[in-house]
Amino acid sequence: MVRKAKSITLIGAGLNGPLLGLELAKRGFRVDLFERRPDMRRVRMSAGRSINLALSTRGIHALAGAGLWEEMRGVAIPMAGRMMHSVESELTFQRYGKDDAEVIYSISRADLNIGLLNAAEQAGVQIHFQHRCTGIDLKTGSIRLQDGETGLQQTVECGVVIGCDGSASAIRGEMLKLSRFNFSQQYLDYGYKELTIPAASDGQHALEMNALHIWPRGNYMLIALPNIDGSFACILFLPFEGPDSFAEMIDQARVLEFCRMQFPDASRLIPDLSENFFANPTGAMVTVKCSPWHVEDRVLLLGDAAHAIVPFFGQGINCGFEDCSCLCELVDAHGSNWGRIFAAFEKARKVNTDAIADMAVGNFAEMRDRVADPGFLFRKKVELALEGKYPQRFVPKYAMVTFHRIPYAVALKRGLTQDGILTALCESISRIEDLDWRRADQLIHQQLTPLELSA
Ligand SMILES: Cc1cc2nc3c(=O)[nH]c(=O)nc-3n(C[C@H](O)[C@H](O)[C@H](O)COP(=O)(O)OP(=O)(O)OC[C@H]3O[C@@H](n4cnc5c(N)ncnc54)[C@H](O)[C@@H]3O)c2cc1C
Repeated sequence: MVRKAKSITLIGAGLNGPLLGLELAKRGFRVDLFERRPDMRRVRMSAGRSINLALSTRGIHALAGAGLWEEMRGVAIPMAGRMMHSVESELTFQRYGKDDAEVIYSISRADLNIGLLNAAEQAGVQIHFQHRCTGIDLKTGSIRLQDGETGLQQTVECGVVIGCDGSASAIRGEMLKLSRFNFSQQYLDYGYKELTIPAASDGQHALEMNALHIWPRGNYMLIALPNIDGSFACILFLPFEGPDSFAEMIDQARVLEFCRMQFPDASRLIPDLSENFFANPTGAMVTVKCSPWHVEDRVLLLGDAAHAIVPFFGQGINCGFEDCSCLCELVDAHGSNWGRIFAAFEKARKVNTDAIADMAVGNFAEMRDRVADPGFLFRKKVELALEGKYPQRFVPKYAMVTFHRIPYAVALKRGLTQDGILTALCESISRIEDLDWRRADQLIHQQLTPLELSA
């Protein structure tokens, strides 16, 4: 029998929960959203995971569909490319896209979250803060909740439960107990630390505003994303152990010495650097893969709960919002036939979320190391030239992931093919004028079919 539950329970009011909630409420479902934390609009939260996010086409598409992009664009800063800082504080700018329209946006996680919470409530979503989900009966879909204020426990019967409860998902934790549930988690040997470059004394940004700043240092790096208040949110990525690692940063003097030597221009702009280094927590980064994502027509995982990825392609939330778009398209096609919707959702998304997970790990080495290599920068130039001549066939991998909604699995596969073409074309040249266009034409037509490009 097909159940037609019209009541949906979401766990987790991070970024995906409220967006999905509002889209489902607009479609006539009753939506209850349970969040373990207090309402961030009323209670000041301590620094959380990365205070800024890079938003790009997939995320923007979903926000635009929800009618939220124009509002969010007002609190976002376009970043046209990477600004690399050498140890000598020399700057090199490398554009992300082929023109001014291809930019990514820096947005504060809190601003985005608050905008989504407001919109979800306006659409009729009932948000219950300080309600931690402590378990779920996967046979019935009933959930156990603990009130964060009183400590009281209650069990709530639910029609359909969607776990949007992030990379350490409690719902996934219960699914782990199922037989034949596949699960892997892979931590990086690197951690991260948040730091801040405040606005200059005139209130302006102390560095170029419309860029993502990178201090690539081979085995580690510092990055900085602009905020609308003139400050920059910085993230320092270091190995946990070994040379130049968190383990070596034993006291404030060592931190200052290291940062002044490796990131001299940034260090001058970060007041109380060593104090903040020790005051802020060190974050870990994990890739989570699992399957199945659903239990019959009752329970589904979505966003980081189903597929947490490391942040180096800036795609975690873009991918999560694309999940929301995909699920809603399936709801539009299949009504409330949840068994069918969940199975189709997993089939459509899993192969793609696996692909972006792998590309995100691969992009770490590119950001911390290869962006400083002249050979790499030359390949990027050649890529843009090839895209200019063959816009339907040769689209750089970064652009396929960031500026288009080409499925991630396609971007991964074509990216590998394109890498081979680039290697063949760049082998013995160092100037774009020397590019063998006849060979390029031949290789591209032989190996790359035309793409369907949707912006
Ligand atoms: C350092 C860093 C930088 C990043 N940069 C980017 C970027 O530039 N661009 C990008 O697209 N992505 C980025 N990401 C990834 C992005 O942050 C995540 O993909 C995104 O937050 C996932 O959203 P979510 O709603 O699935 O989970 P979350 O945002 O983690 O939200 C989960 C929510 O569930 C709640 N919750 C958890 N357990 C329970 C429970 N048991 N009961 C009730 N509530 C619960 C949590 O309190 C939280 O509010 C970055 C991540 C990190 C760590």
